[in-house]
Parts: sequence; C-alpha cells; structure tokens
Amino acid sequence: MGPSVDTKNRRLSHDLPTPDSESPLRSRKPYKLSTLCATVENPDQKDQYGSSSVPIYQTATFKGVGGEYDYTRSGNPTRSHLEHHIAKISSASHAFAVSSGMAALDVILRMLKPGDEVIAGDDLYGGTNRLLAYVRNHGGVTVHHVDTTDPTSIIPCINPTKTAMVLLESPTNPLLKIADLALISKEVKERAPAAVVVVDNTMMSPYLQRPLEHGADIVYDSATKYLSGHHDLMAGVITCNRDELAKQIAFTINAAGNALTPFDSFLLLRGVKTLAVRLDRQQATSSLVATYLHSLGFKVNYPGLPDHPSREVHQRISDGNGAVLSFETGSKEISEKIVGGTRLWGISVSFGCVNSLISMPCVMSHASIDPATRAARGLPEDLIRLCVGIEDSADLLDDLEQALIDAGAITYNSQLNRYVRVQPDEILLEKAVEKLAIGSIKTRQEWFVSAPGKVILFGEHAVVHGVTAIAASVDLRCYGLLTPREDGKMSVHFNDISNFYKEWDIDTLPWKNVAPLSKDKNHPPELDQPLIERLLEGPLKHLESTRESTSSLVLIYLYMKLSKPGYRPGFNFTARATLPVGAGLGSSASFSTCAATALLLLQARINVPDLPPPSSDGHIHISHEGRRAIPPKTAEEINRWAFIAEKILQGNPSGVDNSVSVFGGALAYVKEGFGKKSGIEAIQGFKSLRFLLTNSKIPRSTKQLVAGVGQKKINEPELVQSLLNAIQVISDEARRVLADPELSRETLLTALAALIRENHSHLVSLGVSHPALEAIREKTASPPYNLSTKLTGAGGGGCAVTLVPDDFTTDVMQDLLAELSANNFDPYLTAVGGSGLGILSPHDKHRVKRAERAVPGQVTPPKSPREQSVEVYDDTLRPSFETMTISELSEWAQELGRWLYV
Ligand code: PLP
Repeated sequence: MGPSVDTKNRRLSHDLPTPDSESPLRSRKPYKLSTLCATVENPDQKDQYGSSSVPIYQTATFKGVGGEYDYTRSGNPTRSHLEHHIAKISSASHAFAVSSGMAALDVILRMLKPGDEVIAGDDLYGGTNRLLAYVRNHGGVTVHHVDTTDPTSIIPCINPTKTAMVLLESPTNPLLKIADLALISKEVKERAPAAVVVVDNTMMSPYLQRPLEHGADIVYDSATKYLSGHHDLMAGVITCNRDELAKQIAFTINAAGNALTPFDSFLLLRGVKTLAVRLDRQQATSSLVATYLHSLGFKVNYPGLPDHPSREVHQRISDGNGAVLSFETGSKEISEKIVGGTRLWGISVSFGCVNSLISMPCVMSHASIDPATRAARGLPEDLIRLCVGIEDSADLLDDLEQALIDAGAITYNSQLNRYVRVQPDEILLEKAVEKLAIGSIKTRQEWFVSAPGKVILFGEHAVVHGVTAIAASVDLRCYGLLTPREDGKMSVHFNDISNFYKEWDIDTLPWKNVAPLSKDKNHPPELDQPLIERLLEGPLKHLESTRESTSSLVLIYLYMKLSKPGYRPGFNFTARATLPVGAGLGSSASFSTCAATALLLLQARINVPDLPPPSSDGHIHISHEGRRAIPPKTAEEINRWAFIAEKILQGNPSGVDNSVSVFGGALAYVKEGFGKKSGIEAIQGFKSLRFLLTNSKIPRSTKQLVAGVGQKKINEPELVQSLLNAIQVISDEARRVLADPELSRETLLTALAALIRENHSHLVSLGVSHPALEAIREKTASPPYNLSTKLTGAGGGGCAVTLVPDDFTTDVMQDLLAELSANNFDPYLTAVGGSGLGILSPHDKHRVKRAERAVPGQVTPPKSPREQSVEVYDDTLRPSFETMTISELSEWAQELGRWLYV
C-alpha cells in the first residue's frame, strides 16, 4: 500500500472472504488461489461507478488537504488496488509495487547498515549478485555466499548479532536448484532472531509458492515475469507480514521514488488475473517437455522429474514445478544450433511470458558473469534454458524435436523405432584424452626450481614518467622445492619468513568456486576475485594478511586454477631465498616464478626436455651451461603464470620483474602512456657483469617516493623534465653499449661506470636518495676502491649497486665488504645479467638417498612431528633444503646435478 496509508489499518490477507455458510449442512470451502487471482476486489476501495476493471488514475497529484492520496510517488489508487491484490494472493498483510524486480531488491537491501552481514545463495540471479556486490563494496556490508541446497551450509555463517539478512532463491534460475525455505527460515530464526529472511520468489510466483507461509519475513518477485505474463511491462512486488518491516519499506519507496506508475499498475493487475490459468497450462507443458528430453537421455533440470535431487523438498514448500527447465546437450555448438533452429520458441532473455522462450544462459542472461564464476557455479556452457509458454504443447514439442534433429542432437534409431540422443564425439574424445593424460602421470616426482631477482640498472623513477628503464637479473635467487604428498594435503613452508608452515586438506578447498583452465587456455588478465575472496574467507581466514598468507594464496590460487578435473595431487612447497626480501631486488617475482614453474610441472602443463645423451668423453653438453635448455614457449607459459602470481602479491605489477626472473639477462622496459606503448625488450648479447649490491637496510615506502617525484614534477616541471630527458639519454646509451658486440670489455665497463654516476646524481636531484645510500656511495668511491655506485629501485633506503671491474682484486673486495658490514650494511657480491629460471633436471641421477646424503660425523636429524605425520620420501631433497644455511644454499643446489635454464 502507498506510504500515506497507515499500515496498521491494513486488512489482513484473504479479505475476499469465503461467504459464510447459509446452512451448517452445506459448508463452503475456502476459495482457491485461482479464484483469488481472478477476482480483484477491495472492500475498502469500492469504485464510485462500480467499474469492473480498476481504472487508471493517471495523475501525479490529488487535490485537497488530508485526503487519502496527495501525490502519486507516495500513493495512487490504481497502485493501491494492485498492492491489495498482490497481498491477498501472497498470504501477506502488506504489499508494495515498484518499478522492477531489482528496484524491489534495492528497497529491501536499504535496510542494511554498515557492519551487517548477509548470507546469500551462491546461484542467485546475476543482477542480484551485482547489487549485493555494490552494497558490499560501498555499504560496509559483508556478504557470505553459500550453497543453499544444503541448509546446514548456512549455519557456520550465522552470526547471532551481525547476521541481518538471509537472501534465498528457490528454485534457482537456470539450474533449478532448491533451497528448503522452511527449514532455513527456522534455523536462521533460532540462531539470529533479528535476521530478516528474504526470498526472491520470481521463478514460482505466489500462485505456486508463498514463502511467507514458511517463515520468510520478506518476499519479492520480479513481476516483469509471471505476475505480468506478457512481457509488456517491468515491475517488482514486495510482500511481508511484519508491520515494522512494512513501515521501513514504505518509507524507502516514498523517499527513493521508485513506486510503480499508475499505467503499469493497471497492466500488472490485469496480468495477475490470469496468473493461475497461464501457469497451470505452462506447467503441464513443461512437465511434458522435461519428460521428453529426459527420455532422450539429456541431463534435464526440472524439479518435477523423479531424479531431481531436491524433489521432495520442493514438493513440500510449493504447489507446482513451474515452467522453467534447463538441459545439457554435451556440446556448446550443438546447443547453439538447437537454439537457433527453433521457430516457436523465441530466443530471448527473461521468462514468465505467455510465449515460449529458449536461450543459452552462458551466452545471454548470464553472459555478464565471467566464465570462471559461471563454471565455478556449475553453469555448463552448453546449457539450454526453456521457458514454457501457453502455446499448444504438441506444437511446442514438435518444434523442439525438429530443432534437435536439425542440430544433430538426436537421431532416429530404426531398431528402437524412436529418436535417441547422439553423444557428441568431441566430448567423448576429450574425456578419453583427459583420462589418458591423468593415467600417464604415474610417477610423481620432486621438482626443484630456482629463479633470480632483479636490479634496475638505469631509469628507476623516470620509468614512471615514460623513460626507458634497464633491468637485469641478479644472481641472488629464490629456490622452490615441490615434494609430493600422498595424504591428500598441500602445504607450504617458508623457512626464511618466520619459518611459516601451513597445510590444507585439498578436498576442502573451495573447488566449487574455481573454473580450472584447460591446457590450451590462458588465465584472463583479471584475477578471479570471487575465488580470492573465497580463499581469504575460507582456507586463509585465520592468517593475518601478511607476506606469508599472500604467498600461500599464490600457491593455492595457482594450484586450483591449474588443476585438471579429477587430478588433485598432494604436495609440499618450500621456498627459500638468497635474495634479501623486501629490498627492491624482485624477491616477490622470483618467488612467483618458482611457484608458477613448480605447479606447472606438478600438473604436467610443461615438460622439461630430456638431457642429451652423454658424449664419448662422459660429459653432458648443454649449450651455455644449461642456458636455453628450456624452450621459449615453455618460458613464456611460465612467465604468464608468474605474472598472475605477481598480481596477487603486488596488485598492479609492471611485468618487468617476472620477465627478468624468467628470462634472465637484461631488458629494456617502457611503461604505457606518454605516447608510447608498454613494451619489454630483451637486450641481446648482454654480458654478465659483476656487481656489489649493498642493502642499506633502511625501510622505505616506494609509493611515497614515487608520489614525491610526481609532486616535484608539478612544482618544478622544467627541472624535472630536464632530469627525465637526461635519464632517457643514459638508458639509451646503456642499452647501446650493453648490446654492442664490438665494444671492448674495458670500454664497456668505463662507459657503464660513468652512466652509473650520472644516473645517481639525477636521482639525488629528484630527491630520492638517502644519507645511508650516500654513505655507501662515498665509501665505494673512496680510494683505494674508486668504484661507481648508484641507488637502485625506489631509493630512500633499500639497495645501492656498485659496478665491479673484472680486475678488482679479491683482497681489496674483502676489505670493502668488511668496511660495509662494519657500517651495518649488508653487502652481496653478485653477478648481474645471468641465467633466468632454472629447473633441476629430473633426468639426471642426482638423487641420493637421505641416509647417504648425511654428512659424515653428523647425525641425520630425527623426523619432526610434522614429518612423522606426513610421508617423507626417502630420496627427497626436502630435509637438506630446509635445514641448509642461506650461505650454503646456492652451492649446495648447484652441486645437486644438472640445472636447465631458459
Ligand atoms: N530475480 C530473478 C530471479 C530474475 O530472474 C530477475 C530478472 O530476470 C530479477 C530478479 C530482476 O527483475 P527485473 O528484471 O524485473 O528487475
């Protein structure tokens, strides 16, 4: 009813009273719903002329003061009639008509306030999800999506004080999943008495289901569908029995101004009169169509079929099976042909019309949901949805059969003397190949991988403003060891970050939320946010948002995305690094590269090449000590996944760090914008150079430093532009000399030293140096060292890089290292421009039994309680890898056997 009407004075439902019996011997039965639908009568609003049809009060205002109506936004007689009628057929004492189904939900969701929690189904109408996401992102409301076909799945999410709303749909569209509205309402009320149970009843309409009778507090329908029945208007209706809720709803509708117009109220009222007769016919035909498709052998979703998993629940809470069904053909192409081949069944979104409709949800109504989420919800790409109308059932069946035949989905079997389903060959084939692939992964093995960090040699900061940056790999590496587990668990161990260890049962991961990507598919550019949220709310819930938990997220996310259906091998992944973490040396990218490589190997998505046979001298020859043993295609695949991992860790990475980590060497990078396209280009012929990396151990905020330079550019545009131009010249020159094969080593080093000094002085002018970095620079520049140093990366702390000439003697270097350490800096003598990603060849018999590997005189450490509880392979590298000191790590790894590099 319109808001200007006192809600307390409303009559209760069913005020079309069954006339009293005139004789106790001839009792009168209560009117049936179809009678109620067809009879529009409101004893409180008799028409002055006795019109049979409610007139349209097409007016915005009403004259006079203190009358029942004053302004149509607040109340209108045509709408009042409609609302009264809707309340009557919905077992409700209050009803409201608004401009669409989504407007109805919007009104309801406005009851929420920041801090509230909502529990909602995981198979809701797409528009509902969209609005819920808005409320979550802008209204400070938490939304838990659960599988409402299992009433117990709701219970863990119920918070007695915070759960404010539970939002249900039954049956769902287009999968026809059933939620036990009665049981869920009861469970919610017992645990969170203040929570409001809301049901979207669009798929059923009040004729077939009245959730208020089962304990729901608020019910809404997209009246665009069955209530109207003719696809000639948009409307939404809200019903409830609780006065205080009705007051809030009335307030919002009046305040927001989305009440239904008088003309649409009239049309909707007309539609509702035939609701029962339409649905009776539509349901009867639906049942025929569902049975027909089922008998052909298609997988059909319809609650009226004997094999529907929740048939009994649906029968208990509803009066019919509705007129929407869906079925799978096994092939997207065949489905497209069927949908395109029907004549009577119109291709259209929506449902509830007198005309029959056919659609492919994944291509049409649900196309706005990304494919990963669709797959996660179990929405098959080949699914066809049928919305049955009131046409002659024989015509509809005939039209459908013709389309099935034309599409090759069914064929005539003369022996059986009937049409039978054709199993799509490609599906069978694909399944067979999949099985073969899984079957062939017999022996699972341990994978040991490593990847370098990076330094920016030239162009940091300026790169943000369009200048070319030169980055190179640094021979301080992250190492990742993936060891199989046979106990159905995955675990991670980050020794060097607070010795973090955590394990998960693989089967309890939220597999329903993941759409695995087949081998030929790339990960889309955007991360699967719903999966990430699910993981953060589920398996990673109790971990603080730290580097450890985000690194775990990388492992779980990539593992789930890369998994083949039915193949979920258990494993442990231990990562360690000789790289300082968080010093701007690309430690996260090298971790990402290791994780991506190990998981791609685990899932046999990439193969490592066989080692060439030993030559006659007994040695194995691989070009450039293993360089280029991993083919570019494999490296590119790894790089794509490493970038996804970086996205999880960094948010918005440039792609430089992971590219350097995978490909090694050096590359030139330009950021998109400033009239340039983003680009990463390898510097061919880059010669490995010795560098001293000195970590000042001064923490800094890259964001603040970048913002500082941005501000300087605004304040002193000319100065900053001239510095940027100068840095571009340096980058260009560096790129030229690094790649010039004619240049002598000496000339190269002299040129680089000068460029380093020059670039550093520009960075000082940009205001991003730090006294600690200047101290390192002065120390290295002073006699007898006379070396050139610049800050690298964001500056303001972090690391400095010092070029070390080939003839720099070990003794002098020892002195320098000692002096730097004495000043509380961490110096690392390293090479720049070396190998990228490496994989320890599994073909080389490097594996030694655990006992054999024990260092003489040293006792093999006893198994830890964790090791005792899991299967530890005898030939695993894990115990040594996890107990090795960082300083021994790289040499130990090198000696294990042959490494293959990109
Ligand atoms: N709820 C369900 C189940 C729907 O199918 C739809 C529309 O398709 C809506 C709500 C939204 O209704 P409307 O399009 O009238 O806003």
